[in-house]
Amino acid sequence: MTSDTALVDARRVLDRCDALAAVSASPTGVERVHLSAEHARVNEVAAAWMDEAGLTTRTDQAGNLWGRREGREPGLPALVLGSHLDTVPDAGRYDGILGVLSAIEVARRLGERAVDLPFALEVVAFSDEEGTRFATALMGSSAVAGAWREEWWDRTDASGTTVRAAAEAFGLDPARIGEAARRPEELLGYLELHIEQGPQLEAADRALGVVTSIAGARRFTGRVVGEARHAGGTPYPRRRDALVGASEVVLAVERLAKERDGIATVGRLQAFPGGVNVVPGLVEFSLDVRDEHDADRDTLVGAIRSAAEEVCAARGLTVELTEVHSARGVYCDEALQRSVTAGIAATGDAEPLRLWSRAGHDAMAVAAVTPVAMLFVRCEDGVSHAPDERVTLADVAVGLDAFEAAVLDVARTHRDG
Ligand SMILES: [Zn+2]
Repeated sequence: MTSDTALVDARRVLDRCDALAAVSASPTGVERVHLSAEHARVNEVAAAWMDEAGLTTRTDQAGNLWGRREGREPGLPALVLGSHLDTVPDAGRYDGILGVLSAIEVARRLGERAVDLPFALEVVAFSDEEGTRFATALMGSSAVAGAWREEWWDRTDASGTTVRAAAEAFGLDPARIGEAARRPEELLGYLELHIEQGPQLEAADRALGVVTSIAGARRFTGRVVGEARHAGGTPYPRRRDALVGASEVVLAVERLAKERDGIATVGRLQAFPGGVNVVPGLVEFSLDVRDEHDADRDTLVGAIRSAAEEVCAARGLTVELTEVHSARGVYCDEALQRSVTAGIAATGDAEPLRLWSRAGHDAMAVAAVTPVAMLFVRCEDGVSHAPDERVTLADVAVGLDAFEAAVLDVARTHRDG
């Protein structure tokens, strides 16, 4: 059940997703990275759409694009709607982009009614969520949350350009990065619409879902050490084969994560010395662990560690897991979740599916400065970070209706509260 105009509005949003996909550094796929010429170009195009939606635009010192419309009096704290416009290499058209363009569309639909809202309405297009260029994700939203790190200025891209040089070339002043930070009292909350990037909504036959929390990942580098020896001359009792041991570790990682309803992935594995006629003496691998709750994730990490040690000890191998990244999970705000639920319910899905996000999002960083909530839109077969990312016109239409209704529910509860 969608409003009469929703399909027309959704068509406009999807056409704009296509238009932004054309602003790409890659002739064969979509690729738009932080502080690039394509980043400047999409900000320019999106700013024109924000302007048309009645928003006053500005770009902050982290390259994030903002649009604002005052509420019933000037200077009220803002409800911010948004997502990101940067992409992974060989990306789809909707990851992040759909959230920004839906936010602009909701602002446009609210039109003159926005001046009755008990808050200002802002739309943000974050500049760097994926971390494709400088291998550090969430730079744009971290700057907004006041969590910019000085060491980021010296990070380099593949061609050796620093973040500092790229920012200056983009027309930003690194000395003024602090100005991108928003103060908690300026903000009421943050709502992000995003494609699910997983298959759960599709499996449940739902167009939309309410996000309960965003998982924080822990990542490790693993090393299994055995002994490299001649493949022909070394009988089995004498072998300390690091690759066979690591393979058992990989299987244990999958088994334990499944048993505990978490997610753990070995995405990279390399055997050394890597000769066809040499028993591998060393294996290096990556490990990424996620769960709905940090405590459960940490328990899973402990179980993986014990299993890895046990499996390797039985083969005369040693194993080390070194932590290289740890992010805290973020819980979506209860009141904002209720507004998102009410928004979806207004479209006819009385009891919306609730799910936790296995993927990271800008909302994680923004949560440090204001309450956040998210609305997921079904994507075909859960495919994302790939060119064949797909959403349907009908789902985008119902998403716009729900997003707008959620904003109006925040206004209602804010008035009543
Ligand atoms: Zn995204």
